[in-house]
Amino acid sequence: AVPAGPRTRTTETHCPYCSLQCGMAVTAGDRPPTLVPLDFPTNRGGLCAKGWSAHELLDHPERLTRPLVRAVPGDRTSPLVESTWTEALDRVVAAIGATQARHGRDAVGCFGGGGLTNEQAYAFGKFARVALRTSAIDYNGRFCMSSAAAAATRALGLDRGLPFPLADVAGADVVVLVGSNPADTMPPAVQHLQAGRERGALHVVVDPRRTATARAAGLHLQPLPGTDLALANGLLHTAVAEGLVDEAYVAARTTGFAAVREAVAGYWPDRVERLTGVPVDRQRQVVRALARAEKAVVLTARGAEQHRSGTDTATAWLNLALALGLPGRPGSGWGTVTGQGNGQGGREHGQKADQLPGYRRLADPADRAHVAAVWGVDPDDLPRPGRSAFELLDALGTDGGVRTLLVLASNVAVSAPDARRVVSRLRDLDFLAVSDFFLSETAELADVVLPSAMWAEESGTMTNLEGRVVRRRRALDPPEGVRDDLQLLAELAERLGAPGFSADPETVFAELGRASAGGTADYSGITYDRIDAEQGVFWPCPATPDDEPAHPGTPRLFTERFATPDGRARFVPVHHVDAHEQPDAGYPHVLTTGRVLAQYQSGTQTRRSRSLALVAPTPRAEIHPDLARRLGIAHDDVVELATRRGRARFAAAVTDAVHPDVVFVPFHWGGGSSANALTDPALDPVSRMPAFKVCAVAVTRVGGP
Ligand code: SF4
Repeated sequence: AVPAGPRTRTTETHCPYCSLQCGMAVTAGDRPPTLVPLDFPTNRGGLCAKGWSAHELLDHPERLTRPLVRAVPGDRTSPLVESTWTEALDRVVAAIGATQARHGRDAVGCFGGGGLTNEQAYAFGKFARVALRTSAIDYNGRFCMSSAAAAATRALGLDRGLPFPLADVAGADVVVLVGSNPADTMPPAVQHLQAGRERGALHVVVDPRRTATARAAGLHLQPLPGTDLALANGLLHTAVAEGLVDEAYVAARTTGFAAVREAVAGYWPDRVERLTGVPVDRQRQVVRALARAEKAVVLTARGAEQHRSGTDTATAWLNLALALGLPGRPGSGWGTVTGQGNGQGGREHGQKADQLPGYRRLADPADRAHVAAVWGVDPDDLPRPGRSAFELLDALGTDGGVRTLLVLASNVAVSAPDARRVVSRLRDLDFLAVSDFFLSETAELADVVLPSAMWAEESGTMTNLEGRVVRRRRALDPPEGVRDDLQLLAELAERLGAPGFSADPETVFAELGRASAGGTADYSGITYDRIDAEQGVFWPCPATPDDEPAHPGTPRLFTERFATPDGRARFVPVHHVDAHEQPDAGYPHVLTTGRVLAQYQSGTQTRRSRSLALVAPTPRAEIHPDLARRLGIAHDDVVELATRRGRARFAAAVTDAVHPDVVFVPFHWGGGSSANALTDPALDPVSRMPAFKVCAVAVTRVGGP
């Protein structure tokens, strides 16, 4: 129970940021809003610095509370000036009409985000396919989760980040974290790891950086960036060689192992040591521990997945987990640690270029017919799958590309790879509309900026990293002049003559349930009342007839069968390929990017937080002492990093936490310190994930502190 004053109201909701969706109570009334953590299963009373400071932004002086339009319509060199919703929406609708009349339906595009609620993500996908009838929609989760999602779908028939509750991690005897750093990205989750360590569990972290998570682990493997696949194949080679494969499980629950056994035959330990830098004895130690543990968990995250071969890398770790009989075994399994707050739900309900709600596929006739019936449209009128996120952005303003773009909850000018090229493409648009809380780097380029409601001002649902659907509850009214994105989409659809768009979240959620019914991500049995009563509900949760008990939801997947047609998991043989860019004489080092504790994603919100700015005011380039010595760089010197795409400057942090040949920079900033001005947009052929984690870089000292 949270004490509240006589004129205040306390509402239980969840943190606006990452996929842990920590429970918190917000008290609003005749004083600035305050918050306290709640004892929710994922955070158990904890919050990180980001969560503790989330309420600071609700009444931030830079908060947008009026629509902005260009003083001279069509002239983006003219200033953005305050306007009315009527005028702003008039301009958006006029631009949509003019563009589609001149260039066709697909010339209007939509770009969404993993921070949208399930209802908003669903409505955005429907808006694109029904109100605009465009194929051009994708979202920023393509830059985050798409490789793991593709690997899981290929092997297990279903993509749910963790196929088990997070609390299972506490009970595992061995946990292997690959490219995951929860101590910085989601600190309350560390409680679950800590509980395991106190019981004597072995935790292994695979990461080129000695992160806070790696320092706390029993074992840290430090492979060169881009070699995780070779390491996983090497571990499986050792498992085969030492007779550690769970042959009974492989025979009963999987298909395709013979091809994988053959594929890993060439990954003998000393070759893997040469490729990855991980010593042979460490490889053996890890695979033996994993194989002998009663309960063992393998988790991958962005470090393993954001590569040109990200899908195959996640697959290699899945192959290892399957060979050791982990997925579906009580207390064991493979999972991926989702990043964004609604990264999971955001990829289930139709924002993706190739997907319809409930993970239905836009290319599948039966799936099209089901969703078209819910939407009251002809299946033949639904567009075909469109371009993936980077491909959509890279074609902006071109013949055959999008010329009018609507962006919700995404700051691609900072978060996209090769970000300056993306900014140039955004400038090529005929018209750009952005809905956001603040004037982000993307919103600065827009013709129209629409001020949107923040987390504590809106209602809806989010799906956390465990597949648990939770309620985002409205704790206070938005400032006058601010609208929820659900309202925005309903009003735009009405102006475009498309009926059937509600602004009421519960109505939209019920429709989402019908659209997802029978799909793999089935929400049809979930209601707001059930979520309230049960601390969230795990999907799939199909509706049942009135005279039958309600479906309990599914905290643990794959206990009896996998979601493939024959119920068996599929091994997929994969091979190491070199990263798209290799160091050479011009760019002699390896650059990798990632996150820091006190910032979130593109930083649109967290860079404006006073308390977080005290912790992480500017980005720093981490450089190993040996490399720093060779280049004449001291701690706090200003260094310029140059890649084939651009240059950016950072203060140097000389630290032996990074691999001697690797430079690390966080990606939360834009401008002259934009990490993504440097990154490589080479795409994974399956997931279309850019190669954020590896490129070749030159490092030069340009000045003192
Ligand atoms: Fe929890 Fe993530 Fe919010 Fe931190 S950012 S409080 S870990 S939900």
